[in-house]
Amino acid sequence: MREPADLIVRPGAILTMVDDSVLYDGMIAVKDGRIAYVGDRQAGEELYEGDRVIDDSQAVVLPGFVDTHTHLGAHFFGTMIDEENVITAVYDLWFPMEFAWDHETMHAASCLGIWDALRSGVTTVANDQYYPQATAEAVDALGMRALVSYEINEFSAPMPVRYDPASRKYSISFDRRRAEEGLAENIALIETWQGHPRVTPCLGPHAPDLLSGEMLQRIAGESEKYDVKMLMHIAQSQAEVEQVRKRGAEGSIHYLDSLGILSRRLQGAHMVWLDDAEIALAAASGMGMSWTPTIMMACQSYARIDDILNSGLRVGFGTDCFSMDVLEEFRYAIYSANFVRGLKSGFRLRAYDLIRMATIGGAICLGLDDSIGTVETGKLADLVVVNLDDAQVIPNTNYFETLVYRAKARNITHTIVGGEVVYADGHLCTADEAELLERGRRLATDWVGRSKDLLAQAGTLGRIQPHFELPELVSDGGPAVGPK
Ligand SMILES: [Zn+2]
Repeated sequence: MREPADLIVRPGAILTMVDDSVLYDGMIAVKDGRIAYVGDRQAGEELYEGDRVIDDSQAVVLPGFVDTHTHLGAHFFGTMIDEENVITAVYDLWFPMEFAWDHETMHAASCLGIWDALRSGVTTVANDQYYPQATAEAVDALGMRALVSYEINEFSAPMPVRYDPASRKYSISFDRRRAEEGLAENIALIETWQGHPRVTPCLGPHAPDLLSGEMLQRIAGESEKYDVKMLMHIAQSQAEVEQVRKRGAEGSIHYLDSLGILSRRLQGAHMVWLDDAEIALAAASGMGMSWTPTIMMACQSYARIDDILNSGLRVGFGTDCFSMDVLEEFRYAIYSANFVRGLKSGFRLRAYDLIRMATIGGAICLGLDDSIGTVETGKLADLVVVNLDDAQVIPNTNYFETLVYRAKARNITHTIVGGEVVYADGHLCTADEAELLERGRRLATDWVGRSKDLLAQAGTLGRIQPHFELPELVSDGGPAVGPK
């Protein structure tokens, strides 16, 4: 008597990511959202049967990608970046324009980001941003898995950070009330979503320079109390290091160490500007790091990924908001690492190591490695099916290298989260795509309209082409617009 399975997958090969072996002609049986069986196909077929079968001898199955650092709604900003403002966009556009967000805009933007991630094989993201309730609702509705936090800032709202690209410095003033409100909102998020099967709430202290030491310690105390992760941008710019030096620390990790904040609960993104002692401190603390090579190259900087990997620091992969497409990002990552760091030290990043970073490596960073990150019996069925019967991937002589160097998101046929097929054959299974597009376009236009003054101040307004049909600025009754 064979046991019924909810879903059976019969691909040409399975990369379990337990190690670098390939399981040829295997089978996966999914039951109640979990992997009930993975292994030899013949033995599997004697154990399990089911009506729902993905049968593709040209496909490879691997664990869904884990994107350890992104902002699902923030690609709205990505389309406004140009060659003049890659570095200053965050300070001159992003921070002020964030004040013109609202719940509905963030929900619409998050839905588009999730769609883009799911079709790229990403099943889990770690996300910090404003309106996290909206993002959590979107994650819930579209069937993804995510760590979600509120991005807590202490810099003053009416007078945001102004960045001077010539000196790479900025000035900042703090408003404790703003950070207190942010923390309260973040705790409300935790209390609302704790225990949800796919949405894991956590804390989002933005960065060491954007919060005072007292607030950073308060937030660390709450992360211990609620037993949740902290997602933080760390050592992301020289300007940040400049700020922590003013507080008497040699660097951002030194500063967080002096505050007693380095721990397994901390997940740091970027971590570019680190000295040797900071790499060792971070590794010894058990904290995780999100390696985000593309956005850092856009900021003309690069993490010491070779030294970091050698130190034993836990590293996951992150796309930040530039792209949700992990396969596309793999190319930037592997070519840049082998060029930038390879030139310095002879370092070579292997395709397997990169895929590991983007699966089980990320799961370890986010504290989810007991439930996701590998294809193993008992784990949640977060899987991606990649069909390699395409012009640019023949001949497929090595699955790991083919995926990293050649495969594209269009080769992904199925994305499965907790046993549910959420994306199949080019379409989202969990939402009406036309509706997501229409709502995204409409709300993005409204939002850019609300930010018109800011765009004019930043000298970017003239670059928005007439087809965009920017509405007239609504000055009364609408949401607050940036700095006043
Ligand atoms: Zn970020």
